[in-house]
Amino acid sequence: MAVLAAFGVALAGCAGGGAGTPGGGRGGDRTASPGASASAAGPGSSPAAGSAAGSAAGSAAGGQQGASPQAAPGPAKAPTLAPGPNGLTPVFERAKQRTDKTVALTFDADMTADQGPRAAAGERFDNPQLIATLRALKVPSTVFMTGRWAEEYPDQAKAIGTDPMFEVANHSYSHHAFTEPCYGLPALDGAAARADVDRAFESFRKAGAVNTVPYFRFPGGCYDDQALRALSTAKVTAVQWDVVSGDAFAKDPAAVAAQVLAGVKPGSLVVMHCTRSAAPVTEEAIRTIVPELRKRGYRFVKVSELMGT
Ligand SMILES: [Zn+2]
Repeated sequence: MAVLAAFGVALAGCAGGGAGTPGGGRGGDRTASPGASASAAGPGSSPAAGSAAGSAAGSAAGGQQGASPQAAPGPAKAPTLAPGPNGLTPVFERAKQRTDKTVALTFDADMTADQGPRAAAGERFDNPQLIATLRALKVPSTVFMTGRWAEEYPDQAKAIGTDPMFEVANHSYSHHAFTEPCYGLPALDGAAARADVDRAFESFRKAGAVNTVPYFRFPGGCYDDQALRALSTAKVTAVQWDVVSGDAFAKDPAAVAAQVLAGVKPGSLVVMHCTRSAAPVTEEAIRTIVPELRKRGYRFVKVSELMGT
């Protein structure tokens, strides 16, 4: 259990568990403790649960979904949403349209700033088999990578970030919390939060990942207006989700697949993980999810395409 608890600290934030509050930024509203990770990642999350801050941000963004071009950190010409009131960072959760059978799978490549010793001891925060499967199945995907992950796995970061099948988005450098509470993750203050985003893009550049997009996913999905304000000068669009895969700490790939298949609707955005140690059955679940959604008429797109529709 000690090991599981450690994983909880490591990934809880990411995944999302948090999840589950599409729209609601404050995943951290849930009791944040390492032991809570399993339930946080579970299917119990309600899409309706959003904090006032999250809801406000969501509706603000929702009202301005006319994608407007902005300078992107990378060469990719990705659409972004217009800023919310007072320049707040906009938040994207799913496509505005609800009829075209498009769906975006997103994968958080998590590694927290202090996890270097664990990686050195053999823990695998990467998931090359997952990437290989996405390639083999030809599934355009968006990878939300932490800067620390790109430093640990520069060859993989470059391979992902130069493959047109993928786009690399920002999941912070440190995977620390941008608001508290957030699954026990240590918190960054406003200035540090802003710098953390830049540092992640710099890590991608150093690794040679060029297919970057100006999208940012808050660790744990935890945010509030203050966090959105802190990032306003970064010119990124924050990306949440409307479907929680529940892959964090999952042991049954069939359960993950079932949860995704039950949740996907036209224009959905799914959060999953590209971190073997804490999301060990994701690749296997993908091998069920992808053919089944295609059978149902869905087409896989990156977040950049979903945002433009
Ligand atoms: Zn994460």
